[in-house]
Amino acid sequence: MGMFDTIIFDRSIPCPKCGAEICSDQTKAFECTLDDYRVGDCVAHAEEIRIVRDELFCGKCTAFTGAYYYLAVYRGILVGIEQEREAAEALLRSFNFEKLLLWYHEMYRQRERACGATHRAEMFMHNVCEWFEGGYDKMAPEDRRSLLFIWNRDILEKSETSLAALHHFLAECEAEAKAGDDNGQMSLW
Ligand SMILES: [Zn+2]
Repeated sequence: MGMFDTIIFDRSIPCPKCGAEICSDQTKAFECTLDDYRVGDCVAHAEEIRIVRDELFCGKCTAFTGAYYYLAVYRGILVGIEQEREAAEALLRSFNFEKLLLWYHEMYRQRERACGATHRAEMFMHNVCEWFEGGYDKMAPEDRRSLLFIWNRDILEKSETSLAALHHFLAECEAEAKAGDDNGQMSLW
């Protein structure tokens, strides 16, 4: 099976056959690296201004629906998902420099968050290695004076094994991501 990306719709699209609300679809229009893309994400190079047509797949019918949706890409950013080509074209025509600046500000924030998450995961992996290889898991709590583990101490102290530490870390990341989602995604329109 080939690679693809997933487009998360900002508004669900009803299946014309069974009526199910379709919230996302796979596309091969971009880099095909198993990424999730939402409106506002950078999907291509900055010179790209185009409309991508994709056929809508219904997970309930497990079949293509015969309906299409249109991805409007302006300067490499996915600026909208429309069911009519005309609406996608109108989005590109109405796009202006101020909106573009807002998108870039938001993407800069996304980048900062992504860098932070990567740094945190790397630090966690280092800490797990040092904790278990250094025998800290066998020490009495009062002997574990090292500041090395300051950010991950809570997880390490409640984990019997490195695998358990990994599970705790992943659970914490998932809980934080969910809390972030519940706070709502930032809308720039
Ligand atoms: Zn359907």
